[in-house]
Amino acid sequence: MVFSEDQKQLRDIYGDYDVVIAGGGIAGIAAAISAARCNKHVLLIERMYMLGGLATAGLVTIYLPLCDGKGHQVSFGLAEELLRLSISRGWERDYPSTWLDSSSDHGKERYQVRFNAQVFAILAEQLVRKSGVDILYGTQICSVLRSGDSIEAIVVENKDGRNAIPATCFVDATGDADLFEMAGADTAIYKRGNIPAAWFYETVDGKNMLHMLGAADIVSSDDDAVIPDEITSSRISGLDAKENSDAVIRCHGLLLEKFLANGDVSETHSLSAIASIPQLRMTRRIAGAYVLDEKEDHVPFYDSVGLVGDWRKRGPVFEIPFRTLYSQQIRNMLAAGRCISVTDDMWDITRVIPAAAVTGEAAGIAAAYGSDVRCLDVAKLQVHLRTNGIPFHIEDLD
Ligand SMILES: Cc1cc2nc3c(=O)[nH]c(=O)nc-3n(C[C@H](O)[C@H](O)[C@H](O)COP(=O)(O)OP(=O)(O)OC[C@H]3O[C@@H](n4cnc5c(N)ncnc54)[C@H](O)[C@@H]3O)c2cc1C
Repeated sequence: MVFSEDQKQLRDIYGDYDVVIAGGGIAGIAAAISAARCNKHVLLIERMYMLGGLATAGLVTIYLPLCDGKGHQVSFGLAEELLRLSISRGWERDYPSTWLDSSSDHGKERYQVRFNAQVFAILAEQLVRKSGVDILYGTQICSVLRSGDSIEAIVVENKDGRNAIPATCFVDATGDADLFEMAGADTAIYKRGNIPAAWFYETVDGKNMLHMLGAADIVSSDDDAVIPDEITSSRISGLDAKENSDAVIRCHGLLLEKFLANGDVSETHSLSAIASIPQLRMTRRIAGAYVLDEKEDHVPFYDSVGLVGDWRKRGPVFEIPFRTLYSQQIRNMLAAGRCISVTDDMWDITRVIPAAAVTGEAAGIAAAYGSDVRCLDVAKLQVHLRTNGIPFHIEDLD
């Protein structure tokens, strides 16, 4: 790699990686594990000192359904492995016994769980390490070195200073398409903006309660979210540092007020957890080779790499085209998680945990395969998925 004059101070100190994953949320975890399981040397970079992103540091502790709501599982592979891992040391709520205790009658029960954020973060970290992935915490990705349509390296800042980390292929699992944006590739912003959220945990008399302050735009009938006007009235893009900070400060004030409504802190009353990253749902995504829409419910795609249901309603199932994971403008980078290429309507469906795992797993395998993701033989990727027992066409479901 050749550095320009102003990049001369950059040092490559982290070694030689085949695949570098940016962001250690659910998508990044899935991408890292799947690339490592393809025998690649993988580095997972995360700015926090824990894995899980919104699902753990963001206290979004509901692993939404792996099923279509009509008794059929649609998301498999790491999406299911991580769900099972999340409750392997106990669960907070929503144990789906008809799915997990091998009953064939799933009835109306949806395949979703509520997990403990801190326990899941550590279990995920152990699984990632056991898969052979190196983890670099406390590391902010701040730019990329692009040459033509290739990414040569990403530039990071951490306790070691400012360094460049080269790789054959990269996965942008930052949730905000940060890498694609830094690379100058086309991206798109969620037009409606985010309702700031302040989910937190309160412990009262030994009972741990999740308060979901700040709901999604469309909430399911089971959602017990409380939506104060102060929160819903001010939407933010999630891409402005000052705006994010102000919103988080406002949310802190609101959640403290709500907590104190039940009394001051005592031995039996504790504000047990607040989020350590901003709770943002849809911010920026890649403008990929294909843009999937909500109307494409049950539409087959020749290049599907996985299936997701709709957490908000029963029935819909979507095939995820591989083309939603890359941009025609960049040769060696994929997107995974909440920044894949979908319309604003579809975004609310693919931004959640199961879809992040499904797209992360596919992106990780694709990154392991090749240096030009745009020319990747999708049939080969699909054979890989099938060998791992992952259906990717609706017609393949039982
Ligand atoms: C209020 C709220 C409620 C939600 N409710 C649910 C729910 O009930 N169930 C559900 O399934 N989903 C829910 N979601 C959505 C879901 O939690 C996330 O969208 C999903 O976990 C996305 O995972 P991800 O890996 O794509 O992104 P993220 O979880 O955002 O992970 C991205 C990671 O990348 C890191 N990162 C970002 N930029 C950089 C950088 N430049 N350098 C280094 N690291 C970086 C971040 O620290 C983070 O760890 C909710 C989201 C919100 C905000």
